[in-house]
Amino acid sequence: MKSLQAIAAEVSGYDPNALPVAQAQEFIGRLVPRVTAVEMLPLRSALGRVLARDLVSAFNVPAHDNSAMDGYALRGSDLAAGAPTRLVAVGTGLAGQPFGGEVAAGQCLRITTGAVMPAGLDTVVPQEFVRIEGDAVIVPPGILRPGDNRRLAGEDLAVGEPALQAGRVLRPADLGMIASLGVAEVPVFRRLRVAFFSTGDELRSIGEPLDEGCVYDSNRYTLWGMLARLGVELLDLGVVRDDPAALEAAFREAAACADAVITSGGVSVGEADHTKKIMAELGEVLFWRIAMRPGRPMAIGRIGGVATADGRGGADGGHQAILFGLPGNPVAVMVTFYAFVRDALLAMSGATAEPLPMLRAASTAAIRKKPGRTEYQRGIVTRAADGGWQVAITGSQGSGILRSMSVANGLVVLGHAQGSVAAGEQVDVLPFDGLV
Ligand code: AMP
Ligand code: MG
Repeated sequence: MKSLQAIAAEVSGYDPNALPVAQAQEFIGRLVPRVTAVEMLPLRSALGRVLARDLVSAFNVPAHDNSAMDGYALRGSDLAAGAPTRLVAVGTGLAGQPFGGEVAAGQCLRITTGAVMPAGLDTVVPQEFVRIEGDAVIVPPGILRPGDNRRLAGEDLAVGEPALQAGRVLRPADLGMIASLGVAEVPVFRRLRVAFFSTGDELRSIGEPLDEGCVYDSNRYTLWGMLARLGVELLDLGVVRDDPAALEAAFREAAACADAVITSGGVSVGEADHTKKIMAELGEVLFWRIAMRPGRPMAIGRIGGVATADGRGGADGGHQAILFGLPGNPVAVMVTFYAFVRDALLAMSGATAEPLPMLRAASTAAIRKKPGRTEYQRGIVTRAADGGWQVAITGSQGSGILRSMSVANGLVVLGHAQGSVAAGEQVDVLPFDGLV
């Protein structure tokens, strides 16, 4: 296992005190391990899970050439150029009930969608295009080319080819594909286990009275929501007060049973509380100042499996978890989760990275922005009169104003090098739909 210093040395332009978002993402990508344990799940239970092995098609789907239309199957070579073609219908092939006989030149077969094409026939004329005269089928000229309306064996999935690759987060279409291979059980990586808790003496949990100067802990709810949508296994350790023993116990418990530990609060530079000290004592942790807004302070590293100077701990088998020490401000928690934690947890779950789709939208107003940091402003995207997208910033962007996230439907992402934006200028927007 590489030390954090060794990983930092691999990230060009690494500066822990003014770390660009891209460098932070690269560092985290190099830091996080991937789960390897595999479990077999019934197909429907595998929705949203990460496929652990390539799924290779054991046969062609479809297994035979078949008709894409209701109509008449024929030989393309029988079609006359520039004149009607007259063919004799010799029978019917239905989906699931193939026509057993032979169809000779000059003959055709009534056929339904999905029915097997008999040997020698390669073209289907839709029934609405033909004229019937007794047992003769008249095909008008110029409406059909040989091969039309025929589905080829294996055109969906060819035998021996990987139908789906390991690392795929299984979506509804994938379940259908797997079903079309006749596979009932799917190998997926085990679920990632994520522990999380909030730190701060001013925090109260729902149900407790709100003492003077205190706030209810909202971060555990936004975090729970984002993590639940990611489909990880959750361990909620509550609010941990600013007490070294309580913090140590929480970190140890979290690290011993989880793959990743997410905390919020207590990582800013001016923090008076014990969170940073305990993190540093119990693991290998870096404290970053990221060139972003909101979300500047963040702790990252490995936690657990360490005996303290006085010999406590270290008895948990040396198990370590990845630590994401997020800032306390409610908007900063969500933004840093989307910017760093989401992709990291997906990678740890064994998923192949897929960049999130972004919209380009015209900003309805000018936005002030300094180059040299990435900004995530909350925006409301709507259709503009010209049919394109437009985005309006949701008023005050203070990182404590969670309402700005709730009313927004996307994040306006202003890149590291970008300066101020003029009204009407196109900006990148990360829509919340499709995001956890
Ligand atoms: P900190 O990062 O600990 O300095 O916290 C920054 C701000 O976020 C402070 O105003 C905290 O009261 C607030 N905060 C920290 N944790 C939470 C939480 N779990 N829920 C709501 N607000 C929080
Ligand atoms: Mg605090």
